[in-house]
Amino acid sequence: MSQYAVTNPATNLVEETFESCTDQDIENALDAAAQAYAQWGRRTSKSERADLLAKVADIYMDRQEELATIINHEMGKSMEESRGEVEFASEIYRYYARNGVAFLEDEPIDRVSEGSAVLRKMPIGVLMGVMPWNYPYYQVARFAGPNLMLGNTILLKHASMCPKSAKVMGEIFLEAGFPVGAYTNVFASFEQVNTIIADPRVRGVSLTGSERAGVKIAQEAGANLKKVVCELGGNDPFIVLGAEDLDDVVEAAVVGRFENVGQVCNGAKRFIILDSLYQEFLGKFKDAASKVTLAPMCSLAAAEHLSAQVHHALDEGAKLELGSAENDGAYFQPTILTDIPQGASVRYEEFFGPVAQFYSVASEQEAVELANDTPYGLGSYVFSADREQALRVADALEAGMTYINEAGADSAELPFGGVKNSGFGREMGSLGITEFVNMKLVTSR
Ligand code: NAP
Repeated sequence: MSQYAVTNPATNLVEETFESCTDQDIENALDAAAQAYAQWGRRTSKSERADLLAKVADIYMDRQEELATIINHEMGKSMEESRGEVEFASEIYRYYARNGVAFLEDEPIDRVSEGSAVLRKMPIGVLMGVMPWNYPYYQVARFAGPNLMLGNTILLKHASMCPKSAKVMGEIFLEAGFPVGAYTNVFASFEQVNTIIADPRVRGVSLTGSERAGVKIAQEAGANLKKVVCELGGNDPFIVLGAEDLDDVVEAAVVGRFENVGQVCNGAKRFIILDSLYQEFLGKFKDAASKVTLAPMCSLAAAEHLSAQVHHALDEGAKLELGSAENDGAYFQPTILTDIPQGASVRYEEFFGPVAQFYSVASEQEAVELANDTPYGLGSYVFSADREQALRVADALEAGMTYINEAGADSAELPFGGVKNSGFGREMGSLGITEFVNMKLVTSR
């Protein structure tokens, strides 16, 4: 059973604990969600729902400092990044408030035979969301924004380490004017999540988290014939084949690897550099990385896990180019691994923290092969001064997203998601509203 508590990673002190849900709480939440779907989700107009989302966006900005402080305590994110995350969540709600009505317009179909036909975009019912701690507000916004716009209602099980932000998000929807049951935070156990997924009132489930959790949740969803979206881990390649200004690439690489203390699913994790640029790029990156001041990781356990991974890499023959294999409490310094041998298992692992793997390659083709040699397929980054080459490499990469000559480009209008073991489905942009929709065909003659 998950223990919902705020443990400040900077001090490792428990600041607040939260009661887990009883089975009766879960039943009440399911009932409220089903009623809200029937009476609100199915009956309100698109513009009414858009207005409520706009209000949510306003509240996030009105309460920015308070909301930022909560996640700073829960998972250690620096105040600057925490403020940025609150603003980003607000932008996502605003994006669906502004564009949702247009996204949900009927789509007429040209019929071959007589009569008319139209696709109407209807909600499907109650959804279960399971979210991670690394961006507590943003991850929820990607799921809740489009689905509340559609008229689906939500039960949300957030990560056990961010219960305070989870609770406050539920309160904000009520403050904005959403009815009880439109969005309900549940401090649920894994067993209770399974109960919710199996419940006939629930029609879909969305998980953002690890591959391990993805397997469990997708199994449960499959066994109960529920639609599932999985946004899972990544081991994103950052390929450098050329640059007009290498310093700009290094700057992007540092953001790509160390933002949010490296705890980013689509963070740049494997740096794959053409051999003619390798030494210069590595030297500049090392220099820049050694000057980065990092906040703590999300927990002592996360830092200890990362330390064990670095030790394992060294045991497998990798070389430590910068940093150390040791954590200091929840703190972990920027670290670079080079010379990771062929076949080493750490090549295929996600390092969810401030550790960069470096590889030198002889050609574009070798870069692509190495980049694709991973079970994951979330993001990917290509840097080249040759546009044709960058586009060619982008096409060859097995990934849900390729960013050319930039990093940290996430934005509400850009769809987000992966292939291979990084999961399936898309969030954000116009696609984010199409996952849990009933594209209902209505014909007439
Ligand atoms: P995690 O352990 O999978 O936890 C994520 C969420 O799933 C938490 O709410 C967790 O609850 C819950 N959970 C885990 N196992 C479950 C189960 N068997 N049944 C029901 N719920 C379960 O992930 P994490 O280690 O905290 O987060 C890091 C991972 O998420 C990384 O792999 C990262 O790449 C990935 N991620 C992916 C994306 C994306 O968009 N693709 C975005 C962010 C993060 P508890 O907290 O109670 O354990």
